[in-house]
Amino acid sequence: MTDPTSPPSAPRPPCPTCGRPAETAFRPFCSKRCADIDLGRWFSEQYRVPDRSEDAQIFDENDPRRVDPDDEVG
Ligand SMILES: [Zn+2]
Repeated sequence: MTDPTSPPSAPRPPCPTCGRPAETAFRPFCSKRCADIDLGRWFSEQYRVPDRSEDAQIFDENDPRRVDPDDEVG
C-alpha cells in the first residue's frame, strides 16, 4: 500500500517536557518555559550526582581513628 501524496508537513516530535506539539522557535520544546524547565531538571541531575572523590578527603592523616599500618603486619 503506497501513498502517492506526500504529507503536507512532517510530524513534529512532542515537547519532552509537557508532550505538546513542539514549536519551531523552541524546538524540541513547545515554549521557552518548557525549555527552561528541562534545563533546570538537567542541572539538578548534575548536582545530585555524588562526588566519590570527597570521601577520601574525610580521612585525615592526623585522624586518631586512622588504622596504623603496623597493626596489619603480623
Ligand atoms: Zn512543552
